[in-house]
Amino acid sequence: MSHIAQNLASIRRSIHSACVDAGRDAAEVSLVAVTKTFPPESIHQAYEAGHRIFGESRVQEALPKMELLPRDIDWHFIGRVQRNKLRKILANFVVVHGIDSLGLAEAADRVAADLGLFPKIYLQVNLAGEASKGGFSPVELEASMRQLLALSRLEIQGLMAIPPPADSFKRARSWFAELRLLRDRIEERFDVGLPGLSMGMSGDFEAAIAEGATVVRVGSAIFGNRS
Ligand SMILES: *Cc1c(COP(=O)(O)O)cnc(C)c1O
Repeated sequence: MSHIAQNLASIRRSIHSACVDAGRDAAEVSLVAVTKTFPPESIHQAYEAGHRIFGESRVQEALPKMELLPRDIDWHFIGRVQRNKLRKILANFVVVHGIDSLGLAEAADRVAADLGLFPKIYLQVNLAGEASKGGFSPVELEASMRQLLALSRLEIQGLMAIPPPADSFKRARSWFAELRLLRDRIEERFDVGLPGLSMGMSGDFEAAIAEGATVVRVGSAIFGNRS
């Protein structure tokens, strides 16, 4: 077994035990294997091990790699979405995790209509108000929700966040709890289902699962450190 296959198996076991600990069904949590900076050969090893969901964060990097890989992969876009790349992103990725403003959502809705698509998207929330990260502030998100829900082309799955680095399981968990509570509040206030919570990476996916993550995005723990 390749070391990538071994790492994948180990992450799957960890996801399973985090679900057991949380009293959740492991089938509720999907794993996006994040392949940014890694070559097609590495992605292929994960593919050979049976994995089919991969995440990339830059269009220019992702498209040439996609060409070299099998067609039956679900590609998720996890990076910052630039308006001028929307067409390429929607045409090549089945899920977009980083819709981070109402203006971007409206643009994505128009492009999706133009392409005849109904893309699955996550609304990115900037929980700590970090200047280095995109995302709606929680207040902004609630204020924009009615308009977001009216965008008929976007299949809003739920919320996504990349919280600040945390120095403990407990601290990490509290950020993820914040995203879940925001989601719960929005569901209630707008009478809408937002089942998806895209949260948790190599260092903190177990904490995210404890707080209800339905999608974890894991790169380095599968493919190794990025140079
Ligand atoms: C790079 C990246 C990940 C994966 O990070 P690792 O720490 O390598 O697991 C997850 N989500 C996003 C948005 C990323 O950019």
